[in-house]
Amino acid sequence: MPNHLMPISHPLRRAALPAAVFLLAVLALSVGAPATLAEDAEAPAAGETRYLPDGTPVRVEASEPESAPAQAEPKGPDWLPFLLRAHYLAFLALMLVGIALLLARWVTRWVRIAMLAVAFFLFGIDLVFPLHPSPMCAATKLFTFKVAHGTFFPQFIALFLVMMVPSLIGRKLFCGWVCPLGAFQSLVHKLPFPIRRRRFSFAAFNGVRFALLGLFFVTIFAIRDWIAALAESVGADPSAGVWAAFSAYSIYEPINFFELLHWQLDTVFLVMLVVLIVASLVLYRPFCYAICPIGAFTWILERVAPGRVRVDESRCNGCGVCIKASPCPTIDGLVEGKRIVPDCTSCGACIGSCPTDAIRFGFRGR
Ligand code: SF4
Ligand code: SF4
Repeated sequence: MPNHLMPISHPLRRAALPAAVFLLAVLALSVGAPATLAEDAEAPAAGETRYLPDGTPVRVEASEPESAPAQAEPKGPDWLPFLLRAHYLAFLALMLVGIALLLARWVTRWVRIAMLAVAFFLFGIDLVFPLHPSPMCAATKLFTFKVAHGTFFPQFIALFLVMMVPSLIGRKLFCGWVCPLGAFQSLVHKLPFPIRRRRFSFAAFNGVRFALLGLFFVTIFAIRDWIAALAESVGADPSAGVWAAFSAYSIYEPINFFELLHWQLDTVFLVMLVVLIVASLVLYRPFCYAICPIGAFTWILERVAPGRVRVDESRCNGCGVCIKASPCPTIDGLVEGKRIVPDCTSCGACIGSCPTDAIRFGFRGR
């Protein structure tokens, strides 16, 4: 009997499968729910800032005093209502399904493909759930808007938390089970292709990724000041409209492959799509390893996340089957017991492949 279909005996594992089915059912129901459960409750008052779907702030004009609605006392932090969006609840549901499937050891090839397809369908076609704010927005505009406008915008805080907090609990749960761009790259990587590079210089890729992140933080101040100087030189108010928007520019804009998920079929789209597909055929998640700021942030969190793929040395006989079965450059280091390894997306591919049942996803143990 294949290892990943071994009888499930541990009580946690027995509970994990029904939990996964239940969460998928909740997720299916949430697709038909309104875009935000909190939308009606948060109509902004005159003079407040509301946010367009792409995160652009818009100041609400003052209305006639007699028609102004009574303003309710704000309850809790302003990002809290955004967490109640069906969009973000669906994120959380998918991550919980991922944990349940990992604990149940039920991540077969086709289960994995199905889950990636679900994530891509829900979040990657800009139809079921809106792309914006995208993970890239949450990672960059959270800071650029803070620098340009002096405040952290609540929907970016909410999405940032939705990505980071689960990744603090289980390694890269967002990247492995939710991110539509990650899912797209993984699905493409599953297609047959004669050239594959599972091992590559992770240090070089990670170096580029963190260099970009460092450059991003250094430049957001310079960009803001440069735009402000430019606005003032033509007699404009640098805090107004288009100037403020430009001052939130980030160096990731030209390499933001999340923009592909708007499916605007122009030349830039086609060039970027071809680059991403070819790179993803050869390498596992190239954008994640080399560019994505979320990938960088969550790689740091991997060091402390208790939920992770663990290798039981006493059971491992060194056969290397898991290394052949895994798409990532990570499993080698995990088997060798290294503490610093390339990104593990908790995809579970290595778990079911082990003939001695030495690999598992868990919250305790080495
Ligand atoms: S690293 Fe970025 S692109 Fe890759 S899965 Fe994570 S958030 Fe998505
Ligand atoms: S080590 Fe690789 S194959 Fe195993 S769960 Fe992590 S990313 Fe997937």
